[in-house]
Amino acid sequence: MPAIESTRAATRWTTRIVPVFLTAAVVYATYVVVARICSKYIWPSLRGATPRDYGTLEYLLRSLNENGTAIALLVLYFIFLLLMIATYARTLYNANFNPGVTPLGPRAAHRQRAKDGKQMRQAYGAGDLEGRAYEAGPDNDIDSPGLESFYSRDVFVCETDGRPKWCSECCNWKQDRVHHSREIGRCVYRMDHYCPWAGGMIAEKSFKFFVQFTTYTTLYCAVVLGANAYALRRQVGQGASADAFFLAAIVIAAFFGLFAFSMTATSARYILQNMTNVDILSFRRKVYQLAVRVPRGTRSDRFGVIVYPLTKVESSPGGRKAEIGALKPNGHPSEEQADVLPASSRDDLATRTFAILGTGPGENPWDLGPWRNWQSIMGTNPLDWVLPIHHSPCANHESLESLYEMDHMLNQLRNRYGLPAGPPSDESTIMQMRDLRSQ
Ligand SMILES: [Zn+2]
Repeated sequence: MPAIESTRAATRWTTRIVPVFLTAAVVYATYVVVARICSKYIWPSLRGATPRDYGTLEYLLRSLNENGTAIALLVLYFIFLLLMIATYARTLYNANFNPGVTPLGPRAAHRQRAKDGKQMRQAYGAGDLEGRAYEAGPDNDIDSPGLESFYSRDVFVCETDGRPKWCSECCNWKQDRVHHSREIGRCVYRMDHYCPWAGGMIAEKSFKFFVQFTTYTTLYCAVVLGANAYALRRQVGQGASADAFFLAAIVIAAFFGLFAFSMTATSARYILQNMTNVDILSFRRKVYQLAVRVPRGTRSDRFGVIVYPLTKVESSPGGRKAEIGALKPNGHPSEEQADVLPASSRDDLATRTFAILGTGPGENPWDLGPWRNWQSIMGTNPLDWVLPIHHSPCANHESLESLYEMDHMLNQLRNRYGLPAGPPSDESTIMQMRDLRSQ
């Protein structure tokens, strides 16, 4: 499986070099805190070692006779070191090989193949229609591939016309919370950021492991910092001059520790608010349009509706070749309760109607409250919170309600727009629809 790397050469090289620096820092810390004990504990008298030459633990063990402190530090050091390495490896793997990219649309896949085969010139020659179509906007085909995965759910993020968002780079519809990363040139589920420190794309498949990694790195650095500061203080207290090894370890641990802590604190806030680095951009002004499934025949002057599957409407001369079946607010008098008309024709049975509802500025559709936000990312089992084994529950996209849970916001919106609580009860709509379409 090829790694999904940055499209920029400089970032690719940074991503490769950073792990070398991190490894060097850990090797050095291990040497200062632990390794010196192994060599000098055995032969200190033979080599004439003085307290000045000792490693932190050896210093505590031998000079201060604080065996309990030294053993506690040793245990903490290795626990956090192992957890840090395990979470780093898991983050690194997922960020590179399983970041959660969405499939390319047919046109973008064609371009990718052409690029891979170094046939760009042929593919984008003057006579190539697909090449010219590549830069075009959303697919206006009413049977555009992938649309069904949206309207088979009860709610999805849409544009004001009721169709999903479109990525012109990937030539595909964008699912909820999917963001196009210029760094890797692909759309990514619940993207957070591209992190050269963690070696790749931090998104829904790697975010939990990334947070665990920064948390353990903070704790690891705290142990290194604490052990060296303690040893240094005792050393100076005994009248010896400050050990350069201890001082250097303190500076390095403080640098990485503060960096990791700030990442952990930011990530913790995102987890509790169910946000990402992408969501947070101009969040206070951001308004989401949601296509919310409503009973067939629903009409209201307060919102537009769209009926899926889309239907072709004869266009006026010079108009678009296919108009989608969106219905604008119909000018009925204002009313508290949305008007629900009875479904009539056989074709109606095969359709799903969605109201196009706007959230208020700064409302986060995916905010489920701090506790459920935490569980949706860190897992429901406390073991999942601390160990880098299972993916976040929110990376499971099997629900037919929405790609990411948003029941809290959904209930509010239905209430706000006078719609019945909960989705329409005709669970079998999809089956009916498929049956009818196959006839
Ligand atoms: Zn994209």
